[in-house]
Amino acid sequence: MRGSCPVCNGFRVIGKNCTQCGKKAKDFGKYTDYFDNYSAYEEIDTVKLTDNIKNDQSEGLCPHLYYCENCHKESIVLIEEVAEKETPLFFD
Ligand SMILES: [Zn+2]
Ligand SMILES: [Zn+2]
Repeated sequence: MRGSCPVCNGFRVIGKNCTQCGKKAKDFGKYTDYFDNYSAYEEIDTVKLTDNIKNDQSEGLCPHLYYCENCHKESIVLIEEVAEKETPLFFD
């Protein structure tokens, strides 16, 4: 049985700091959805990013795109999918 991503389902907000400048990066949502909706953003190094998300399906990980508005760095964060529904948690 496949799990579901707690971030996609709104159970959790997971904050990540930019690996480059340390400021808070913004979750732009599921990586694959991002490219469906924002395919105009072709300046992203898609080959490099794709290398980071290998095996995401088989290992129950949901790749999210995080973007730093300070230094404009994109990064992929793998969110672990959970099998059971959780109580919604919202924090920032
Ligand atoms: Zn997700
Ligand atoms: Zn940054």
